[in-house]
Amino acid sequence: MTKIERRAMLKTIGLASFGALSPNLLKGETLREPYSVSEKPITTDILIIGGGTAGTIAAIQAGRAGAKTTLIESGSQLGGTTTTGGVSFPGIFHAWGKQIIGGIGWELVLDSVELNGDKLPDFSKTPERHWKHQVAVNPALYSLLAEEKCTAAAVDVRFYETPTMVEYKEGRWFVESVGKGVKNQISCSQIIDCTGNALITSMAGYDVLREEDTQPGSLVFSMGGYDLKSLDLAKIPKKYHGYLRQNMLESQIRSTGENTSVPYGYVYVKGADSTTAETHTLANQKGRQNLLDLIRDLRGLPGCENIRITNMKTETAVRETYRINGEYKVTKEDYVSGKIFDDSLSYSFYPVDLHRDGKSIYQEFLKPDIVASVPLRALIPKSSRNFLVAGRCVSSDRLANSGLRVQASCMGMGQAAAATAVLAHKNGTTPSDVSVDDIKELLRVHGAIIPGEI
Ligand SMILES: Cc1cc2nc3c(=O)[nH]c(=O)nc-3n(C[C@H](O)[C@H](O)[C@H](O)COP(=O)(O)OP(=O)(O)OC[C@H]3O[C@@H](n4cnc5c(N)ncnc54)[C@H](O)[C@@H]3O)c2cc1C
Repeated sequence: MTKIERRAMLKTIGLASFGALSPNLLKGETLREPYSVSEKPITTDILIIGGGTAGTIAAIQAGRAGAKTTLIESGSQLGGTTTTGGVSFPGIFHAWGKQIIGGIGWELVLDSVELNGDKLPDFSKTPERHWKHQVAVNPALYSLLAEEKCTAAAVDVRFYETPTMVEYKEGRWFVESVGKGVKNQISCSQIIDCTGNALITSMAGYDVLREEDTQPGSLVFSMGGYDLKSLDLAKIPKKYHGYLRQNMLESQIRSTGENTSVPYGYVYVKGADSTTAETHTLANQKGRQNLLDLIRDLRGLPGCENIRITNMKTETAVRETYRINGEYKVTKEDYVSGKIFDDSLSYSFYPVDLHRDGKSIYQEFLKPDIVASVPLRALIPKSSRNFLVAGRCVSSDRLANSGLRVQASCMGMGQAAAATAVLAHKNGTTPSDVSVDDIKELLRVHGAIIPGEI
């Protein structure tokens, strides 16, 4: 058979088989009714908004403690800044040779490290640099495990949704939540705002605070393709050293299989704000343009001719927007003196760490044996009912907040807020009326470490 005859025969076989199958393939086509937005009433006990660093832990805690729990997340995966934002090295769970934050956040971190075959840092000694006690996690795995734990705790996770109305009537909250093709009316007993921006607190009518000038955000990325042999830092303008060093160190760590605190590359984004779709879009656009400018600049430098982006996070990560005006405001003095309040429910350990202007960081390190703590009152907006927050929008002054905002601390707050919300729901009361001893007892049962008890 010639080549042409063979081609013609194959064509005929193809047509014959398409002809034989096509009636089945085309059978399902029908004219559909116009799509109408699905509207559903949902009744739940605890409604958590924001499935990020704090909110994920809050949801698992509320579900495990037996409350009907709904979690609304405007993105498409759990973990927030830890996963989507690319800050995948939560810290700090240990201070001065002891573990100070445990519970569900630590369980999730440990499970991620174990399943990824990674190593934990040595926590027995206090490192010279605090960040060496942060634990690098595989962000994809972290979000998968978080979702699995939410499912196991019977949490109703609702991605791509966001509240558009929040109203308190006769002892219950009514929230309208919209998303792709959905508009739900949610009725719940307690709300926990874990948006990081205190947006729901503000929508509910409680005061929020903001600095005139906020810390820059960062778009996280990694680069590859530079030639280490011809890369001569002396020939490269100083402003690029940081980017190159971080990435060199990252490849070095990867090649040695070490998984301590992994450095990462980021471009600063001045004024980055994730509070609304519009401000977050702008922060993303600015971050992406800054990265594009950086790559173009680097390409002109010796050893960087073939540099390329190997990973870029889909969102600019945001450090600072709004904070709640809470029943108590944690001050920098409270923070650096390690004050423990009667209602302290979790610890926090990190230096005061304020990214000032995109160029310098103001840092104040905690003195030996000092560990800060978070009182329940800092999680309750002033004069609120049945409402809590957890995460970086905790009630605190700016310098205290720059330490409290780190991930292990946010996870500790998430667990504490959820334990409180569950008890408030069960007792038919508001968070500030729940017995602190009862909250501590519930937290102990779920593995949390209570300030003053270690
Ligand atoms: C660049 C950068 C570097 C950092 N470095 C470190 C570090 O080295 N170590 C450390 O421990 N911490 C670090 N931090 C701080 C820490 O990562 C964050 O402060 C912390 O993760 C915030 O947690 P959160 O739960 O408050 O907010 P997030 O983790 O941001 O979670 C908020 C969640 O709410 C969702 N959401 C927001 N608005 C809505 C809405 N209206 N409706 C529905 N969902 C909504 C978001 O999509 C997100 O998932 C860093 C932060 C940044 C930005």
